[in-house]
Amino acid sequence: MNMKELEMLQEMSNLYGGNPEYVLAGGGNTSYKTGDTLYVKGSGTSLATIKAGDFVRLYRSKLDAMWQKKYSDDEKTRESEVLADMMAARLEGETRRPSVETLLHNLFPQKFVLHVHPAAVNGMTCGKNGKEIAAKIFPDSVWVDACKPGYILADICRRMLSEYKAKTGSDADLLFLQNHGVFFAADSTEDIDALVTDVMGKLNSVIYGWKEYLGGQLSALLGTGHREYVSSPEIAAFDPSFRSPTPDHIVYCKAKYLVIDMNITAEALKSAVENFASDNGYNPRVVIVRGRGAFVFGTDAKQLDTVKNVFLDHVKVYSNSEFFGGYSGMSEELVDFIVNWEVESYRAKVSGN
Ligand SMILES: [Zn+2]
Repeated sequence: MNMKELEMLQEMSNLYGGNPEYVLAGGGNTSYKTGDTLYVKGSGTSLATIKAGDFVRLYRSKLDAMWQKKYSDDEKTRESEVLADMMAARLEGETRRPSVETLLHNLFPQKFVLHVHPAAVNGMTCGKNGKEIAAKIFPDSVWVDACKPGYILADICRRMLSEYKAKTGSDADLLFLQNHGVFFAADSTEDIDALVTDVMGKLNSVIYGWKEYLGGQLSALLGTGHREYVSSPEIAAFDPSFRSPTPDHIVYCKAKYLVIDMNITAEALKSAVENFASDNGYNPRVVIVRGRGAFVFGTDAKQLDTVKNVFLDHVKVYSNSEFFGGYSGMSEELVDFIVNWEVESYRAKVSGN
């Protein structure tokens, strides 16, 4: 037994198992292999607290031999035959039951395997365009379409992984399972960490990168880099089509907000901003991204801060009004009056807003 590497397996398991970004409700599993022995997380064991001595030991050669066997075509019979063979593949004296995904772990020749179901990964594996995007941003990965778990899944993965090897000459270290999760494989836990960091970084830049992209475009169109993105369930539910709540909100945030969709094209955004300015006579200070959040803008840091706080107040007023029969903004006449009211614009000028 290689205690040092088993301790590294424990460390890796506890690290990812204890992080809700990777593992929820005891899901996921890990393994280590050396010579003919596979150490895999036991069924029902928690990754967050597993110890080096808790892993179930199996003969890899016995697991490999299972692929030569012919199992029943009847699903129930087949899965119980497979389970019986998996139990029989354990080292003598082993009493624990290995993870149902043991066969998958054994498919990888790499020493360490981490299998998890992170929401960032599953955003892609459960996305309509997930397969195409995976091929684009992870060209060295293998994708397996959704199928029944257990033996069938392992068998499809086995064929896909050997196809990859035949095509590229190397072993895949990244396997995406549609509607399920991901397998990472490497010969050291450091390499697993590097792979995980790379994958999560790329996925997060797809998931969160739009804010930088859209915000940057808006800043260029509005001519100011003083920008902030704010979001909350209240902002996502906020309906900007209603008129302003009080004169102060108009003075600092203007009477109208620009509303756009997250995936607006650069061209459509440009004309939306131009139309807004020509319709209203000013640039938007608040740009609502429908159902998501909002960008707030200022000509300097101080104005940005004021616009942000007053906008957040508007959202609060809007959601608080629910407890008083629902939101009722100012009348159109009153809004027009405030917009044109010299005193108010003077007040804004004096206070630097
Ligand atoms: Zn799984």
